[in-house]
Amino acid sequence: MAQILEGKLVVAAINQRILAQVEQLATKGITPALAIVRVGEKSDDIAYERGAIRRCDSLKVNVVTFTLAAEVSQEELLSTIRQINENSEIHGCLLLRPLPRHLDDNLIRNALDPAKDVDGITDGSLAGVFAGIPTGFPPCTPQACMEILDHFGIETNGKKAVVIGRSLVVGKPAAMMLIQKNATVTICHTRTVDMPGVCREAEILIVAAGRAGLVGKDYFAPGQIVIDVGINFDDQGKICGDVNFPEGEAIVAALTPVPGGVGTVTTSVLVKHVVEAAQRLTSNL
Ligand code: NAD
Repeated sequence: MAQILEGKLVVAAINQRILAQVEQLATKGITPALAIVRVGEKSDDIAYERGAIRRCDSLKVNVVTFTLAAEVSQEELLSTIRQINENSEIHGCLLLRPLPRHLDDNLIRNALDPAKDVDGITDGSLAGVFAGIPTGFPPCTPQACMEILDHFGIETNGKKAVVIGRSLVVGKPAAMMLIQKNATVTICHTRTVDMPGVCREAEILIVAAGRAGLVGKDYFAPGQIVIDVGINFDDQGKICGDVNFPEGEAIVAALTPVPGGVGTVTTSVLVKHVVEAAQRLTSNL
């Protein structure tokens, strides 16, 4: 039977480091603070916001919420972001996306100061991931995948890794981060021919397609490490990943569960980035 890579173990280790950093900042009179900008009342956004607030509270990080109507004007949203950029008591900003269609996503995400871009949404942050330099912050979800690999001591050096998904939020940055960690990386997407065959060659498989149960026994090989990023709902309305867990568990060496895997680690990575942003922005004090 495969090892289950429990997110809560990774979270506990990250949170312990965060608390030490928060205490250190407190000696300088600094409390890290996250702004959360939500446009509209989408249930996914509200759930993510609630989780982030809870995690921040438990780690003594302040949260300031900016809740705007779904029909907010572009100018009003831009002005909210400018206000956050200029507020020295806010160190990081989470802008919940996708935004309603009347808003120009490119313009708005790039209005955020990369120094406060704790979820890696600006072109500056993404350039940092691709160039391997610490401009801004990497997106939290692929960073959570790397934290899981690190925490469980999974070697990436020289390993064959496959990432399913090529979005700018997960797939592409995850691939870049694996290259940075000396893996040899293949990216699969909707036009990939013989995806199961490609995946069976992987020693590390990161799945971020957003398709419930897409990855089943044909994709697996003994000894693999599988990280399931997907968040979907099955026929009974229960949360599930992209990986058929029982089929994976019977074949691979280790895999993450959904829920209780990447998602929970992502929230702690967000808080970790807020604390790092506070450290960077106040390093001259
Ligand atoms: P997306 O829809 O933007 O991208 C999905 C990618 O998967 C695309 O590049 C597409 O080419 C590929 N894909 C889709 N179906 C495929 C198929 N049948 N075969 C091969 N490739 C396929 O989604 P995203 O924003 O990258 O998110 C992916 C999944 O991760 C979603 O389930 C999302 O809910 C989840 N997610 C989880 C977290 C977390 O914290 N755990 C965070 C963000 C996203």
